[in-house]
Amino acid sequence: MRVFFIVFMLGICGIKVQAQEKHTPTTFSWPFDFQLFLSGNFGELRSNHLHSGLDFKTSGVNKVVRALGDGYISKIRVTNGSGYVLEVSYRNGYRTINRHLNGFVGPIAERVKELQYEKESWEVEWVPQMDEYPVKAGDPIAWSGNMGYSMGPHLHLEVIEEATGDYVDPLSLFKKGSLMDTRPPRAEGIMLFPQMGYGVVEGAKQHPVIGLHRASSVKAWGLIGFGIKAYDYMNGTNNHYGVYSVALSVDGQEVFKSELDRFSASETRMINSWTYGGYMKSFIAPGNTLRFLQAYNAHRGLVEINEERPYHFCYTLKDYFGNSSQYRFIVQGLKQPIPAVDHGTKYAFGWNKINYLQEPGMTLVVPKGMLYEDVWLDCKVKADSGAVAFTYQLHDKPLALHAGCELKIGIRRKLVKDSLKYYVARVWPNGRKYSAGGVYENGFMKTLIRELGTYTVAIDTVPPVITPVSKSVWGRMGKIVYRLKDMETGIAAFRGTIDGQYAPFKCPNTTRPYWECDLDKRHFKKGGKHVVELTVTDRCGNQSVSRDRLIW
Ligand SMILES: [Zn+2]
Repeated sequence: MRVFFIVFMLGICGIKVQAQEKHTPTTFSWPFDFQLFLSGNFGELRSNHLHSGLDFKTSGVNKVVRALGDGYISKIRVTNGSGYVLEVSYRNGYRTINRHLNGFVGPIAERVKELQYEKESWEVEWVPQMDEYPVKAGDPIAWSGNMGYSMGPHLHLEVIEEATGDYVDPLSLFKKGSLMDTRPPRAEGIMLFPQMGYGVVEGAKQHPVIGLHRASSVKAWGLIGFGIKAYDYMNGTNNHYGVYSVALSVDGQEVFKSELDRFSASETRMINSWTYGGYMKSFIAPGNTLRFLQAYNAHRGLVEINEERPYHFCYTLKDYFGNSSQYRFIVQGLKQPIPAVDHGTKYAFGWNKINYLQEPGMTLVVPKGMLYEDVWLDCKVKADSGAVAFTYQLHDKPLALHAGCELKIGIRRKLVKDSLKYYVARVWPNGRKYSAGGVYENGFMKTLIRELGTYTVAIDTVPPVITPVSKSVWGRMGKIVYRLKDMETGIAAFRGTIDGQYAPFKCPNTTRPYWECDLDKRHFKKGGKHVVELTVTDRCGNQSVSRDRLIW
């Protein structure tokens, strides 16, 4: 018997570093005066999306954010998810969105505060007249922050090409300098994806992984996909970043290439098809239309191993600054039986058609365009006669849908009269339930789901818990702080007042459960006793009120 090896010839091939810069129009100046480092780059892999901009480190908050060129402020928003958000339209045809800001400057800051009291809402949005707030390159436009869903102080900067609406890599528009990168991307592992019924990798689990640090051997036959886990690095930071370009060649022929230059908001969720467990696939599912993925063979990037010989593979990774590295490996073609696939009684869903799934008390509609490839559903119904509804396993593992698809689950026992208290619950293997929303309609709960998994209907009658934090120092701090917690469906709305008058409460950082209100002398009379009231409502309409004394 012949024994074959897959060997990583890192020592031979090595990691080559090239430093060739791109020639693109450089029209933007940088948003900060200080030395810049990124905590996130364009297109890096995030949960259910590609990162749509650059994250600049700010080492603390309240750094002056400057305009990148000549243009005008085109939209002003305050949101729970991204804090203060500022959009600027520039004369060069690009628009930027600055997120997680701590505040605005000048007359905009004043106007937003007025608007919040006027609308009695922390979240406000305002589109000024074109050229109402013109900016020139270098003008201060905002204060950087850490607001909304943010893991640390930074500026998130998105650049959108006005003509197409595409997110583009902001690095392609900045003047040279300021960022330093001579470090190439590095791979952590390569994964094989033998195609069920068409390919096999000997002795392998479903997706065998090849480590890069030691020689290992693999023998394969039939149609095989490949994927690579890799990160990029930059000078002066310990962060890792997304890889700009990945190319795979077999015996010197390129079969796949990705170049992450641009993508649109409607494409970003396709990351769920392109990646698997952090590995970037070098083959493209038939329903995946991400434009920056290119396959150059007949099998959408899958490689057909049909000769008993070594196949020489090479991955080339590149970052935006032209630094690159290569990883070579060999897969030995060895004829071996390809196991037949028995889908049994599973439902077949097609990526290119409208699909229906029906079980007693449940219907699911998955329209065309919602799946990236055909899937055989492992569907099970757990009928518990004492429960509000049956529990439906739509598929045995989570499977992302491109957008919301309608799921209806029948209520079998109406344990609570108020239909507002029911919600569709996603059930995780540990038994924990999370709200998938839903509205009541003729004995059913109806919602849109973005992922196949296990679902049922549950009831939430438990109101949120409101806890005042360090109440005795509110007056001294000039700030009211509450901690909010909701056990089941989560907080949907909150409203605060001081002496019956609207008070702008906010959740400064949504990774932390604190809600705050700054005491403002221009809106509340300082001196003496006040009554603070906070009303919090969860997604099933359960409400709590906290009334507290304030001396200020
Ligand atoms: Zn970001």
